[in-house]
Amino acid sequence: MKSHFKISRRKAVLCMAAAVLFTWAGRTGFFYIKETVNQEMEKPRAALTFDDGPHPAYTAELSKELAKRGVRASFFLIGERAEKNRETVMQLKKDGHLIGNHTYEHVNLTAVSEKEACSQILKTCNLIYEIIGEFPNYVRPPYGRWDDSLDCDVELIPVFWTLDSRDWELKDADAVVKGVLSSVKAEDIILMHDCYQTSADAALRIVDEMTEQGYEFVTVDELICE
Ligand SMILES: [Zn+2]
Repeated sequence: MKSHFKISRRKAVLCMAAAVLFTWAGRTGFFYIKETVNQEMEKPRAALTFDDGPHPAYTAELSKELAKRGVRASFFLIGERAEKNRETVMQLKKDGHLIGNHTYEHVNLTAVSEKEACSQILKTCNLIYEIIGEFPNYVRPPYGRWDDSLDCDVELIPVFWTLDSRDWELKDADAVVKGVLSSVKAEDIILMHDCYQTSADAALRIVDEMTEQGYEFVTVDELICE
C-alpha cells in the first residue's frame, strides 16, 4: 500500500503543477501562450514503447533512426540485457528516449515473492543509474502483471499499454505496420519489442506514416498524467 500511495501522490503533484501553470498563463493575460499550448494539445499524440531490449544489433540503430526523425520513444529495459549492452543504453539516453525498468530477468512480478520482485526491480534501477547516472521513474511489468500493493520502497510508476502491436508473435513488418495503423488513435501507448529486426523496421514505417497523418510522438510520461 505504501508504494501505491507514493505513486499516487507523485502523479497528483505533477498534475497539479501542470494545472497551476495553465491557470497562471490564463489569468496573467498571456493568452498567446495559452493559445500555443492549446494548438499543441490539439495535435494527436501517441507513445511508442519498446520492451525486452536492449538488443545488441537492433536497438542502437533504431534509437538513432528515431532521433533523426525527431521522435522520442520509451524503452523498458531488461536488466541483464542492459548490463551486457551498456553502450546501447547510453545511446538511448543520448538520443533523448525515456528509459524504464522491465525487471532484471523478465519475471512475472505477481508470481514471485515480494522479496524477489523487489530484488528484480531494484537491481535494474541501480544498474540503469550506474550506466546513465539517473534512476528510472517508470516500470513496465512483464506480461502486464502488477500488484499495486507491492512495496519496494522506491517510487516507480507502472506503465501498461493501450495498443498491442503483437510484433513478437507476427514477426512480420508488413503485418505489424498494417495492424497498428488500422487501429491506432490519439493518446495510444503502443507496445512493441526492440529485440526483432521486423519490429524495428515496422516501428520506423509506423513513425513515418503517423507523422504524415499529423501525429506527434511523445514519451509515456506525457500521456499517463491524465
Ligand atoms: Zn517483456
